[in-house]
Amino acid sequence: MIQRISRIKAALPELTELESLLEEGKQYMRIRVPAHIQHQGEHLPFYVLEMGSNSPNAPVLSLVGGVHGVERIGTQVILAFMKSLIRRLHWDPVVRDQLENIRLLIIPLVNPGGMLDNSRCNPSGIDLMRNAPVEAEGKTPWLVGGQRISSSLPWYRGAAGQPMQPESQALSDAVHHALKGQKFCISLDCHSGFGTRDRMWFPYAKSTAPWPDIGAAHVLTELFEHSFPHHDQYLFEPQAHSYTTNGDLWDYLYDDYKAQQPDGCFIPMTLEMGSWLWVKKNPRHLFRYHGLFNPILPHRHQRILRRHLVLFDFLMAATRTMPDWAPATANEKGLALEAALGRWYPGYDGKLTSIV
Ligand SMILES: [Zn+2]
Repeated sequence: MIQRISRIKAALPELTELESLLEEGKQYMRIRVPAHIQHQGEHLPFYVLEMGSNSPNAPVLSLVGGVHGVERIGTQVILAFMKSLIRRLHWDPVVRDQLENIRLLIIPLVNPGGMLDNSRCNPSGIDLMRNAPVEAEGKTPWLVGGQRISSSLPWYRGAAGQPMQPESQALSDAVHHALKGQKFCISLDCHSGFGTRDRMWFPYAKSTAPWPDIGAAHVLTELFEHSFPHHDQYLFEPQAHSYTTNGDLWDYLYDDYKAQQPDGCFIPMTLEMGSWLWVKKNPRHLFRYHGLFNPILPHRHQRILRRHLVLFDFLMAATRTMPDWAPATANEKGLALEAALGRWYPGYDGKLTSIV
């Protein structure tokens, strides 16, 4: 598709794989490249793809990967899902019907420069998931919560008062545009590198107080757990149960959405694949930075690629039917909130955070 020097082809096979999928599935996609990311004289494409309905009323599912360049597996699970989706579209009327009723936004490789470098940060040394203009409420853990000391330390947010990085801005613009005027939206951002379980995190990252749409997140959680009782590898919980951070892009995008669409429902989820388990099973991971975030052994890699296909299918169906299950009336919202607080904040008697 695109002639690219062999150094990049070898170091960034995910981009080659993505472009071959775009060629294979172009009849089903709307493909845009709203930005190019500079990397040592190269201009790496920032792809934004859309599939399915173009109707302003269609609920939106966004799939995002590769925000942290070293977490290649996040991009790879999305590419695996895309490949399966494109091939099923040729023959499977159920998949076609599903896509006719939702808009699917896919940004599979947010940080191509970071992935090329095998680095968490972008080529300017900035952690994109600490780069949004959002300040945490209260104290965050040292460094991990985001720092402005130096780009040579991890979790660097960038200098105060600067615009967002091109990757963060392009991601925000694409999500903002797709969600505009939509009442029902879900997103899944795929990461790896924390803990031994696969965590499904919802906001806020900036606050330990319950997040306004926690009731809807609880209904979604119960839908999954009830429908797929044998897929109990996922731990659904607020991100702030693990740690709080400054500058989280999904906090930013959620608040942005809610300011435009106060009566809409947007559930931004982050899949944090529990890579410490791979380390435990194979201590060789400890000696390879890349291996702390990605499965090395071929059989484990294959297993991870297929492990989340059920989740993606579930999210397509759940997005489509959101108008049926998302709490809408004051009574439904009250009941959902009560159930959510009972599960994640037992004994909580404070207030929700400020946006509602
Ligand atoms: Zn990450």
